[in-house]
Amino acid sequence: MEHLDDLVAAYRILAQYGVIDAYGHVSIRSPSNPQRYVIARSLAPEVVQVDDLMEYDLDSNPLDARGRESVRERFIHGEIYKARPDVMAVVHNHSPSVIPFSVTGVPMRPIYHMASFIGDGVPNFEIRDVEKGTDLLVKTPKLGAALARTLGKSPASLMRGHGAVVVGENIARAVGRSVYLEQSAQLQMQAMALSDRITYLDDGEVKASVGVQDYKRAWPMWREKALERAKADRKHGQ
Ligand SMILES: [Zn+2]
Repeated sequence: MEHLDDLVAAYRILAQYGVIDAYGHVSIRSPSNPQRYVIARSLAPEVVQVDDLMEYDLDSNPLDARGRESVRERFIHGEIYKARPDVMAVVHNHSPSVIPFSVTGVPMRPIYHMASFIGDGVPNFEIRDVEKGTDLLVKTPKLGAALARTLGKSPASLMRGHGAVVVGENIARAVGRSVYLEQSAQLQMQAMALSDRITYLDDGEVKASVGVQDYKRAWPMWREKALERAKADRKHGQ
């Protein structure tokens, strides 16, 4: 079950890079049934194992919960899979460096090739436009569908005062984009502190850099190391 190992690895990679903390999550669309997705039960990402993975329909009902607790914000995943047939993996994170962009109206721009996808547009989800007085969590189908609408055809959307959602046509792309979205936010803030004259990637460069987003060198190395950690944890009974 290679795709389940991919997902276990994705959790651990995102935790390692500080992109998801104790509350973030990543899912994949089921390769055997596009009307299903797989995501871990509610637990810390850095300890996820294959047994923690649960399957859901696109309304985010678990198919075989066996007493395992679902993550509350799973509607982010189900509603995006409904709206975006091209998407095969979704990451929801509380990536710390993107938060300032989500609350200031300063747009994220494509500052380097590893996160060139930012040039395709990264909208910002304002939960208040849908519902006032929330705890900011996307924990209903209605909020999930609204977030999917804001995301539109984009590779990622910020979520005001909360974090971001990042998607991909495969899991390597969704994970890589998440890691480099965080780094790009840090780099842009550093550049903005140095100067108000910044040279961003232009449209032609954004288009030409699509290939790098397969993260072909990073993903196999990240995956192997993450699965070694998962194996070591099982040995020590964690
Ligand atoms: Zn969240």
